[in-house]
Amino acid sequence: MSAEDGKTTKRYTIEARRLSADDATLSSLTTSVGTLSPSFSAFEYSYECYAGCSVDNVSLAAKSEDAAMKISLAGGKPMDKFPLSPGKTLAEINVLSVNGKSTTKYIIVFIKPRLPVTLKLKKKEEKFECAICCGVLDKPVKIKGGSYHYCQHCVEEVTRTNKMDPFTGNSLEEGWMEQAYTVDEELGKADAIYPSPSGSIEAIMNIIGTKIKEEREKSTKEEVILLQ
Ligand SMILES: [Zn+2]
Repeated sequence: MSAEDGKTTKRYTIEARRLSADDATLSSLTTSVGTLSPSFSAFEYSYECYAGCSVDNVSLAAKSEDAAMKISLAGGKPMDKFPLSPGKTLAEINVLSVNGKSTTKYIIVFIKPRLPVTLKLKKKEEKFECAICCGVLDKPVKIKGGSYHYCQHCVEEVTRTNKMDPFTGNSLEEGWMEQAYTVDEELGKADAIYPSPSGSIEAIMNIIGTKIKEEREKSTKEEVILLQ
């Protein structure tokens, strides 16, 4: 297409799709909280969406050009009340074409921050422990083919300069890190203790501050004893 000055040439791409019985794409996808990143496009199949830490469920609206296409959420979860766990929650939206021959999967990873405190579990469970820091998993991930779970930041730190599995020593190939959504979801439901469940963030931070001070004083005393 040429502009009037005859110099500027711009090319426009117009997305034209003829609907066939084989079509299994969405025409719109929206969530009641946050915004999809990247923004919705029929041929973009993977999104992220940030939700506040107090959001327990979101409603999803997915539409297609032809109402006869079947749209469903994996696991039979409800579209109008999709539950979010602290950390990451995966929503898989499946679209089935009118003729039932083709399917398209769209995924949204909802990210809900945990409280900025270390989670304590009432019962110690190995499956919720990070193999690096031995603490309760924070944003759990796995190494593809490996059997351990790690906090994302722990495994990123350990492999930052050396792209190697910390346990097997095998080198890490492209796409080695896998999100452990199931563990994160189970962890969200586990019986946990926060330092002050009813307290404000400030109160919680004060408790942590006092603990750190106590630890420091204790270690200074120990040092003094060692020096004597
Ligand atoms: Zn860790």
